[in-house]
Amino acid sequence: MKNIRIAGSGPAGMTAAINLARAGYAVTVYEKHRDSGQRFHGDIQGLENWSVAGDIVEQLEEMGLAINFHCQPFSELKVTNGERDWHFSCKKPAFYLVKRGDIPGSLDQGLKHQAEAAGVTIRYTTQLAAKRADIVATGPRPHHIFAIARGIAFTTTMADQAHGLVNDDAAFKGYSYLLVSGGYGCMCTVLFDRFGEINRCQAATEALFRERLDLDIRDPRPVGGLGSFAASPVYCRERRLRVGEAAGLQDLLWGFGMRSAITSGYLAARSIIDHTDYEAAAHGFFDRRLQASLVNRYLWERFGRDNYARLMDRIAAAPDALEFLHSFHNLNLLQRLLHPLARRFVGRRYPGLLA
Ligand SMILES: Cc1cc2nc3c(=O)[nH]c(=O)nc-3n(C[C@H](O)[C@H](O)[C@H](O)COP(=O)(O)OP(=O)(O)OC[C@H]3O[C@@H](n4cnc5c(N)ncnc54)[C@H](O)[C@@H]3O)c2cc1C
Repeated sequence: MKNIRIAGSGPAGMTAAINLARAGYAVTVYEKHRDSGQRFHGDIQGLENWSVAGDIVEQLEEMGLAINFHCQPFSELKVTNGERDWHFSCKKPAFYLVKRGDIPGSLDQGLKHQAEAAGVTIRYTTQLAAKRADIVATGPRPHHIFAIARGIAFTTTMADQAHGLVNDDAAFKGYSYLLVSGGYGCMCTVLFDRFGEINRCQAATEALFRERLDLDIRDPRPVGGLGSFAASPVYCRERRLRVGEAAGLQDLLWGFGMRSAITSGYLAARSIIDHTDYEAAAHGFFDRRLQASLVNRYLWERFGRDNYARLMDRIAAAPDALEFLHSFHNLNLLQRLLHPLARRFVGRRYPGLLA
């Protein structure tokens, strides 16, 4: 059977590899780093539970993945804008916290072990050009960087907790977060503009969290990175399937990309196994959600007055914040009406995002 070559050992590439190997294909994954996960440095990230109906953990299992990595459900999130506070308590997990990097228990190491058990060959320290790959899963596209994140990961005695900070001084048009899970913490700021101010924003983020919380930060290490986005992802180029961030898949509002990366990796594998059209499947699954997230970015930037207090009040007024967020990730009627306006606004604000 044909050897499938996959460039990149992130969640998108590994999900494709695991499914293809289990279906009997000979799969080789090429990874430019020495180990899986080295794009990250022990960050904590959220596998969100709002863009798709149903629970992400059940869906991971449906997509052939086992939960052999740290994956902690969170139903509570506290958000502040520096002046006011909101406490969101959801009926089911709003997100699951996972670790990223080459550390034990990370998502990346968990997928690596599953891939190896399925018989995938992984060639580390080997870069593979897109034109030589069957599946391109290489992560951020250098010419499509629209977000930057910087912060620290640390060990701590703090209890498990999740906090968001929406404040243009600490994260212009973005957000900051402090996450603690199982004695491990991560505090970051994410900017969608004014990248030159990232150090000042990181300091402002830490100062605001210190004012509000009794922080215990031990052994801090720098984390962060760049995020690439596209309003119209490229799922196939010169007959190479593109998955995850390499396709441009990432939520345009907050940059959540893991769920899309895994889903696209799964769809690409299924298309090869079932001889179906990956592009059609990906358009069918992602187009509506990407249009919704484009409108969400417009609403965030256009109506995020008073440091997002009105938007937070609107979410807090909903009977269930998670249900409310879900309706705003599936192109509801309001978003359909606003989409042409949002496209013009976002296109002017971020030239290149619509390319
Ligand atoms: C600081 C930060 C915080 C984030 N937080 C969240 C979050 O909370 N929730 C969320 O859902 N998403 C989050 N994201 C986004 C998420 O990390 C990405 O969307 C996701 O990792 C994309 O997965 P991927 O498999 O497409 O790419 P990656 O995870 O980037 O994997 C790509 C892999 O390909 C390798 N590679 C690149 N080029 C080549 C080549 N030519 N040959 C061989 N190997 C190559 C890279 O080394 C890398 O290992 C965050 C991103 C950042 C930067």
